[in-house]
Amino acid sequence: MKDGDSDVSMRGSQRQASRDIDRCDRTVLSSPSGDDLQTVATLLVSRAALAAIALIASLVVAPVWGLEPQVSDSQFDSLRQQMVELQIQRRGVGNEGVLEAMEHVPRHLFVPEAMRADAYVDHPLPIGQGQTISQPYIVALMTALLELDGSEKVLEIGTGSGYQAAVLAELAAEVYTIEIRQELGRQARELLAELGYDNVHVRVGNGYRGWPEQAPFDAIIVTASPPEIPSALVEQLRVGGRMVVPVGADAIQDLELLTKTPGGMLRKNIVPVRFVPMIGGGDEE
Ligand code: SAH
Repeated sequence: MKDGDSDVSMRGSQRQASRDIDRCDRTVLSSPSGDDLQTVATLLVSRAALAAIALIASLVVAPVWGLEPQVSDSQFDSLRQQMVELQIQRRGVGNEGVLEAMEHVPRHLFVPEAMRADAYVDHPLPIGQGQTISQPYIVALMTALLELDGSEKVLEIGTGSGYQAAVLAELAAEVYTIEIRQELGRQARELLAELGYDNVHVRVGNGYRGWPEQAPFDAIIVTASPPEIPSALVEQLRVGGRMVVPVGADAIQDLELLTKTPGGMLRKNIVPVRFVPMIGGGDEE
């Protein structure tokens, strides 16, 4: 989820349609329903074309007049529905709770205002300070891997925009999320409170240490990539709990699902991913 996409401009959105489909293809390759590629691409074009017609005036004409593009709430609703259907469900994420949560959380409010028209496209977006909000499919996939039933206490490392925390908040009892960059943490805390997510608790700090006062956690999700699995997080996961983490020091990492058993950690490799690095080192505890 690097900031390679940070130059995507609103006026560029339509021109980028074909490139977005290429990106979509690459992700689909690693998903269970890759056979549907042609169908997905076709649907994506036709459904997106309808939405595009409605958006053209705001994306192309408005900037010419020096105005901010205007996308109505109902247009955002329909873009969000398409996102869930075409980018997530079609790629094999079937967890109803996750699909509903992603259909409910207003992702466009978690991206900078100038990026809102692009909030529902099939790739990550810049959120400031060189950081990114993950591609919707990856948010859905990681959330589904946690298999939440509503009763859990979840720890997230890497609050960023707060979007992933909001999705988790729809599916778990309490969400504790840690952001190392003060400004991002502050903004996310404010937005989540404004949207009424009072079961999300944001801390500015170093996620390598976890949140010992609230441990143990039933699930842990790490949304920046550490070179190795942070030991404090393993300690703070309850036995039987699940942890999703992109592990690796290179540009491409392995998304791993870990399950804590009385005998140790079970590790499963899920898919290659690209996250921003988890900074702050692992040994200053
Ligand atoms: N989950 C976010 C996206 C995460 S981007 C969202 O939904 O928007 C990764 C975030 O991890 C960045 O905001 C980055 O500042 C943060 N981060 C990096 N290293 C960290 C650390 N050691 N502890 C906590 N947050 C960290």
